[in-house]
Amino acid sequence: MSRRQAPTVTQLRNLADRADRGPLRPEEVQRLRAGIDRIADRQQAAGAVGAAWSNRVQALRRRLVAIHRPVRQRDITACAECSGWTGTRYVGRVVAWPCPTLDAFTETFPAKEAA
Ligand SMILES: [Zn+2]
Repeated sequence: MSRRQAPTVTQLRNLADRADRGPLRPEEVQRLRAGIDRIADRQQAAGAVGAAWSNRVQALRRRLVAIHRPVRQRDITACAECSGWTGTRYVGRVVAWPCPTLDAFTETFPAKEAA
């Protein structure tokens, strides 16, 4: 039996109903296994996509934090990028760290989703 002919969820439920009424025939058991295999394959693929996405989100977070890094001057922690930090002074309006860019990222991708 090819993957293309694996039973749908509805067909699997019908097979379960059929098993309630008596032993499955060998071809029914084969269809049941094909359906389970297809679902397992899909779950594995979905897990791989989720892991790849999480890695990309974490990489983006690291890049953003490297650009929008904190600078502590006197009693103020400001965003180096948003505040125009030259290494010795700010040339723009001083923006507190974490800045709106990092806040927007964190709101969009809460830490538990990016983990
Ligand atoms: Zn910033």
